[in-house]
Amino acid sequence: MEFSQQFSTSPKSEAERAAILADPGFGDYFTDHTVVIDWTVDAAGEGGWHDARVEPYGPIMMDPAAAVLHYGQEIFEGLKAYRHADSSVWTFRPEANAARFNKSAVRLALPELPEEDFIESLRQIVAADRAWVPSGDGEALYLRPFMIATEAFLGVRPSREVSYRVIASPAGNYFGGELKPVSIWLSERYARAGHGGTGEAKCGGNYAASLAAQIEAEQHGCKQVLFLDPTNDHAVDELGGMNVFFVLADGTVVTPELNGNILHGVTRSSVLQLARDRGLVVEERKFTIAEWRERVADGTLAEVFACGTAAVITPIGELKTAVDTLVTPTAQGEPVWKGIREQLLGIQTGTMEDTHGWLTRL
Ligand code: PMP
Repeated sequence: MEFSQQFSTSPKSEAERAAILADPGFGDYFTDHTVVIDWTVDAAGEGGWHDARVEPYGPIMMDPAAAVLHYGQEIFEGLKAYRHADSSVWTFRPEANAARFNKSAVRLALPELPEEDFIESLRQIVAADRAWVPSGDGEALYLRPFMIATEAFLGVRPSREVSYRVIASPAGNYFGGELKPVSIWLSERYARAGHGGTGEAKCGGNYAASLAAQIEAEQHGCKQVLFLDPTNDHAVDELGGMNVFFVLADGTVVTPELNGNILHGVTRSSVLQLARDRGLVVEERKFTIAEWRERVADGTLAEVFACGTAAVITPIGELKTAVDTLVTPTAQGEPVWKGIREQLLGIQTGTMEDTHGWLTRL
């Protein structure tokens, strides 16, 4: 697909950009450009992608009746562009994000975007906004591809007009400052997903549905919410924006299986691979809240951590529930999560060997 380019005539000045990059935070600032590809259904009923372009970043003109505004027909992705020491820019397993995006598209009755166009759209935005890729420790340019239903029509059916877009935002450490174990809140009042639902799709509605639980978490001094599957023995699903892992006292690494409820995290799959590379026993299986309680009580739980693109790997220090607090024991020696985190970051930032060929140059 050919992209046309219309560059911004009023990009941020070098001084403004430098001030933002000095302390980017997460998700607060956006680069000067955006990528757009339109999709429409023609008179013969055939859908097709067209008008791929780079445009100045700015508000979207949309009809108030656009389907996305009413029925939430929307999906998104999240991945990062990393600047290496020689100033080249790379991204991590973008084909996995492209595949997941298309799985989400099918679930939300949106059109699939060919993988090469997805990856080319990332190249286009990074080419236009290369100066925005930060180079500080733990920093990256967060790329947010998304697809919205733009047809003005109030009937409930798949939109015949769709817009694919990419925006980019310089990112620092997700939780801010030093990497400390986080406290998470167990949501028992709200569920995020259920059998046959949209749990494994990356669609906006899942995140909207998690916000009431997030408010509850904050009221209990927690930054993230752990969701269970109440229809499946209260099995652990995932956090609002991260997958979850357990390390048992015998070194076994356990993570909830891909049961249709949870996102197929790219970090999750990479952590599993790096754990296997280390010779660790890895189990993808049901892990219930009852097992968590038992293992804390009998001392067979060694580590709990969360993982995702934004926060990489973050240790979970405790799980607060309405009735108790499950405290993760302090690790004896070097924790498993730490070694894997360093290797993952090392691969992403180009300081360690990319043994699995996970990097793509942008
Ligand atoms: N679960 C949810 C609900 C998420 O939003 C994310 C972030 N994309 C993840 C898990 C982690 O996925 P990834 O490692 O691909 O970022």
